[in-house]
Amino acid sequence: MSARLLDGKALGAEVRARAGEAAKTLPGQVGLAVVLVGEDPASQVYVRNKHREAEAAGLLSFVHRLPADTPEADVVALVERLNADEAVDGILVQMPLPEGIDALRVIAAIDPDKDVDGLTETNAGRLLLGRRGLVPCTPQGSMLLAGLALPDLTGKTAVVVGRSILVGKPLALLLQAANATVTMAHSRTKDLGAVCRTADVLCAAVGRPGLLTAEHVKPGAVVIDVGINRVDAPEKGEGKTKLVGDVAPEAAEVAGWMTPVPGGVGPMTIACLLRNTVLAAARRRGLEDPRGL
Ligand code: NAD
Repeated sequence: MSARLLDGKALGAEVRARAGEAAKTLPGQVGLAVVLVGEDPASQVYVRNKHREAEAAGLLSFVHRLPADTPEADVVALVERLNADEAVDGILVQMPLPEGIDALRVIAAIDPDKDVDGLTETNAGRLLLGRRGLVPCTPQGSMLLAGLALPDLTGKTAVVVGRSILVGKPLALLLQAANATVTMAHSRTKDLGAVCRTADVLCAAVGRPGLLTAEHVKPGAVVIDVGINRVDAPEKGEGKTKLVGDVAPEAAEVAGWMTPVPGGVGPMTIACLLRNTVLAAARRRGLEDPRGL
């Protein structure tokens, strides 16, 4: 058996297009501000992509680049200015922040209603309590991809490997809210293979290339690979690298559905960022959540 592809490029393009259409129905232009501190190469690529996709969807995009040695207080002051800026509906501070800046303090400064990454305590609390809020983008995108394969998760078993605040924990909450029976696995889990093989939906958010193999996958399962790992690719030439997930490609022989890396969860993350920004914009204008988003 060879798994069917869960195509994040195609679904991401749809979600971005819907966000762009919804943005047009709102009074005034929707604005997204991205703050990048330092020169982390991967973060620069992510921020460039976010800027490009936001503009392509017709949003106003403001990118604030600060040097790596910017004092934490200045980063917080910028976030506070963006909180007060009427042209800004969504604020995203690109992680990781350079050493010496406490990410939690910076995140805490973001107005929860502009927190389009869903990282503030307020939005984490809303998700836990099942209240309306802004849901972190990567878990949200993972759910949309899983939904292509299994539109109804009621009674399905789901295993999330990884318990980070950014991905694993919110993803487990979303799966639970969708009526799946959820197990969270992590670095201290015993017999990871046996745990994973119980999963109708297996989600990997670890950051270890090929940690999960065909042995971890129940036949026919839906596999959502959140991991993005840069590894050497000597087959492409000397010094070349490539991106791979946490799930070894041969797992596709056992899985029923699987996300590719790249082209799976990655594009969904940006798409859901635009979606959250439009949701935040509508709510800030006192309007209903736009239909069809
Ligand atoms: P993290 O380092 O914060 O968390 C990793 C988690 O994996 C931890 O909870 C840890 O307990 C668990 N873990 C570590 N080793 C393990 C092992 N051997 N067995 C089982 N569990 C183990 O990472 P993160 O921020 O959640 O990111 C995870 C991966 O997802 C990374 O590769 C990251 O690049 C990727 N990511 C992708 C996107 C996207 O848009 N696709 C977004 C965010 C993160």
